[in-house]
Amino acid sequence: MLDGTTSEIRERKALRINPAKTCQPIGAMYAALGINKCMPHSHGSQGCCAYHRSQLTRHHKDPVVATTSSFTEGASVFGGMANLKTAINNIFTIYEPDIIAVHTTCLSEVIGDDIPMIIKKSAEDGIIPEGKLVIHTNTPSFAGSHVTGFANQCTAFVKYLAESAGETKNVVNIMPGWVEPADMREIKRIAEMVGVEYILAPDTSDVLDSPHDGKYHMYPDGGTTIAQLKAMGDSFLTIALGPLASGPAATELEKKCKVPNKVLELPIGVKATDEYVNALRLAGDTTVPSALEKERGRLIDMISDMSQYLHNLRVAIFGDPDHLTSMVSFLVEMGAKPMIVITGTPGKKWETKMQEICAETNPDTQFLAFSDIHYMHQWIKNNPVDLIMGNTFGKYVARTENLPYVRFGFPILDRVGHRAFPTVGYAGGMRIIEKITDAVFDKRDREDPDHEVELVL
Ligand code: SF4
Repeated sequence: MLDGTTSEIRERKALRINPAKTCQPIGAMYAALGINKCMPHSHGSQGCCAYHRSQLTRHHKDPVVATTSSFTEGASVFGGMANLKTAINNIFTIYEPDIIAVHTTCLSEVIGDDIPMIIKKSAEDGIIPEGKLVIHTNTPSFAGSHVTGFANQCTAFVKYLAESAGETKNVVNIMPGWVEPADMREIKRIAEMVGVEYILAPDTSDVLDSPHDGKYHMYPDGGTTIAQLKAMGDSFLTIALGPLASGPAATELEKKCKVPNKVLELPIGVKATDEYVNALRLAGDTTVPSALEKERGRLIDMISDMSQYLHNLRVAIFGDPDHLTSMVSFLVEMGAKPMIVITGTPGKKWETKMQEICAETNPDTQFLAFSDIHYMHQWIKNNPVDLIMGNTFGKYVARTENLPYVRFGFPILDRVGHRAFPTVGYAGGMRIIEKITDAVFDKRDREDPDHEVELVL
C-alpha cells in the first residue's frame, strides 16, 4: 500500500503527508462528552461535525452525539448568529441537555463569529431555558491540534462554571488529560485506593463505554456533573495529568479560584504512575496501600522477566505530546530504545523535554513536533527499527516494512482493547508490555525458520 515510499527524505515546509494529528474540534467534542447531560455543539458546517463524530464513534465503538449549526453559503457570507440561535432553541426543545458546549470550526473562526455575544443575545431573547447553560470555546483547526482543542474545552469549563463559595473543601480536583474512558476509570480507582476524595473532570467513563442494557441513552449516567464542575473552585488542590491537555485548565482554575495545582505527566509507566500516586498520598496525608504496592511490584517483575527482549528494542513511535512523553519514558525504563518520536502537534518545549528524557540512554533519538507519519516512514527506511507504535494510521507503514505494530493513542479505528483496558497505572503498564512482547513474538513465531522456533519465550 505504501510500497512506493522512497528512502530519500526531502525537506518540506508547508506540506504534511499523513499528519500525526487531527483537528481541534474533535478534542473539544471529546472533553464535552465527559460532562453529564452535555450536548457538544459544532458551530460550522455539517461536514465538520459529521467527521468529528465519526472519528469518535469509530474509536469508541459507541454512538457519539453532537449537534451542528449547519452552515450553508448564507452563514458563510453573513455570519452564523441566526444558525446558532436556531440551533440552541432546537437543541433545548428536542434533546433537552442541561448544558450545550459550543466549539468553533475553521469556517466560523474565519468569519469571526462572536460566540459570547451570540450566547448573551440568546439568553436575552429567552432561548436558553431557566437553569440551563450554554458555554463556548474557540477551536480553530488551522492552529494547534485535537489535543489543544481538548485543553481549550477543559479551560472553558473552568472559565464558565468553576466558582468559589469561599470555603475550601477537603477535595482534590483530578484533570485526567486526554485518555481513554478505561484510563479515567483506572485513575479514579487509584485515587480511591489511596483514599482521596476527588472530582474528576472531564470523565468519559460510563459515557463512551457504557454497558449495553438494550436501551438507547442519549445521556448515559457517567460524566462530571455541573455541580461538580462548579465545586472545583472550592477544592484545595488540582492534580492535572498531561501538561498540554490539562495544564491550561489547572492554571485557569488557580487564576480564577486560587486553587493551587500540581501538573504531572500522564501516569503511564512506573515513574509517572509513582508520581501520580505520590501526589495523591501527599494530598490525602496518607500512606500508599499495600495492594497498590503489590501492583507496582508485579509491573517491575514483568519488566525484569521480559528484559532480555525489551533491552535495546528499537522503537519508532508517533502520537500526541502528553502520551508520547510518558510512553517514551516508560520505554526507556524498560531498556528499550526509542529511535524516532513524532507528533503532529506543534511545540518546541515538548522536543526539549523529550531530549532530556532520552539524554542519558539514547541521546541520538530523533524528536520532531509538527511532523508527519510519512517522514517517520522514510526515516525508518534509512534507520531500521524493531517495532512501531502509534494510532491506526501507522499500520500501513508497519505492513509495508513488515514490522510488529502496537496500537496506542488516538484514533484507534480497527481494534477494541483500548476502550476496555487501561494503559495508565501499574496495571496499564503490564498491558503495554504484553502488547509489545506479543507483537514482537508473533512476528518471530511466524517468520523464524522451523529449527529456530522457540516454544518458550
Ligand atoms: S480542519 Fe477545519 S474544516 Fe476540516 S474538519 Fe476540522 S474544523 Fe472542519
